[in-house]
Amino acid sequence: MRSDGTRVGLWQPVSSGRHAFGVRARQAEPGETVEAMCGAEVDTDELQRVAEEIDWIMKQTCMDCWRLLKEQQQQAQQQQS
Ligand SMILES: [Zn+2]
Repeated sequence: MRSDGTRVGLWQPVSSGRHAFGVRARQAEPGETVEAMCGAEVDTDELQRVAEEIDWIMKQTCMDCWRLLKEQQQQAQQQQS
């Protein structure tokens, strides 16, 4: 099944770590909760704020998100060839 623009668009450091989110997460309404690739729930406010450089340095990359993204990329490449 082809995704409808839900390809992963952004990494964002939030309180629970640096997670990957779909492009649509950026358009979520304030007060909503959005789900990271790994299923972690994050407040939209936290997702859409502009992260400070220190956040990127201090927050650990979520390995679940990282792995899921990698698998997704590999699948996309296989479909192209
Ligand atoms: Zn995650």
